[in-house]
Amino acid sequence: MAEIHLKSLAHSYSPAPQSPSDYAIREMDHVWHQGGAYALLGPSGCGKSTLLNIISGLLSPSEGDVLFDGQRVNDIPPEERNIAQVFQFPVVYDSMTVFDNLAFPLRNMKVDEGKVRAKVLEIAEILELQELLDRKAKGLTADEKQKVSMGRGLVRDDVSAILFDEPLTVIDPHLKWKLRRKLKQIHEQFNLTMVYVTHDQLEAATFADKIAVMYGGQIVQFGTPRELFEEPNHTFVGYFIGSPGMNILEVTRVEGGVMFKDQFIPLSDHLCQFLNQNPSANVKVGIRPEFVHVCDEAIKGAYSCDVRHVEDLGTYKILTMELEGQILKARLDEDQAVPENTAWISFPSQWLKLYVDEYLVPDEPSADQDAADSQDRSDSDPSQTTEVRQA
Ligand code: ADP
Ligand code: MG
Repeated sequence: MAEIHLKSLAHSYSPAPQSPSDYAIREMDHVWHQGGAYALLGPSGCGKSTLLNIISGLLSPSEGDVLFDGQRVNDIPPEERNIAQVFQFPVVYDSMTVFDNLAFPLRNMKVDEGKVRAKVLEIAEILELQELLDRKAKGLTADEKQKVSMGRGLVRDDVSAILFDEPLTVIDPHLKWKLRRKLKQIHEQFNLTMVYVTHDQLEAATFADKIAVMYGGQIVQFGTPRELFEEPNHTFVGYFIGSPGMNILEVTRVEGGVMFKDQFIPLSDHLCQFLNQNPSANVKVGIRPEFVHVCDEAIKGAYSCDVRHVEDLGTYKILTMELEGQILKARLDEDQAVPENTAWISFPSQWLKLYVDEYLVPDEPSADQDAADSQDRSDSDPSQTTEVRQA
């Protein structure tokens, strides 16, 4: 068991990197605490596998340190790092039986055969592989092979951490859901540090207590599913998390707020003050579809939009509108009136987020929020489960 600290870590595959774009991992400092169930979430090519391979030692970082419980392990080879890694595609020995495949990591560690047997049977039961134990891996389906591959990652309970690199890619959807639950169960049972890589936000939220969102070689936010939803720290998190993602408007600054084309959007004094001191021209506001206030008749201070499309998703509807040439989405509850041609929308200030150079400008919390925040902080122990938003 270990705390894994990535200290001033960066990695370039190029021997002589010239600019930030030459880095697959841009300089970061990050801690995975002992016992946490984490997801590393981001689009293809953002550096997830690179980061995992650096932790397991398959790859040596070009800059910075990897520390396990404070000890630098950069020069320690993967087999001595005590990390199990499960890859996207199955890694099994075709000529061995399922039993021997599962036993392999333990026999390698010279675990006595009685214990090997008990552990293999335990993992086989969890992964529902009992029936296949005597079969050669060669004849298995892709699903079954991947379960064996995962089992090989899970048999050792002396590992510092288990890293999963999109392990369910080749698994069919129904089994995927089941295996994800199993992993969660294994996490709870053995109190292992687990880092689960995925590009699927639902998969991340069902598995992890805390999600690291990665974008362009950086972890742009590390938080609970709820924090990523309510307080996206970067426009990418706003856009990537949620379904549909956050509405993001490019705006210009004016006295007392910002302008989206001809529409004035007021901001708090605190945010205006921040803008006054920050000259960047890259200013955006974001609001999630869930928080856009929609009315089917004109109300004071609301923006009038053309309704383009209504998608009925059973318990809620997604309304697509156009404001000043830009598409905006809002989520309507079942019992809410659906505007026909024109919708009047407003943005509750609590949910309207300001982004400068793509990063969130924190608003000054009100007294109420202060109390809620300190509560959140005391909840931030990664071993505790946190609320997952119900979509
Ligand atoms: P992800 O797992 O998030 O899809 P990767 O870590 O595989 O992302 O890749 C991050 C970036 O590094 C990509 O731009 C990819 O093309 C590049 N990359 C990955 N592996 C190598 C390699 N062996 N040599 C050179 N570039 C690589
Ligand atoms: Mg990858």
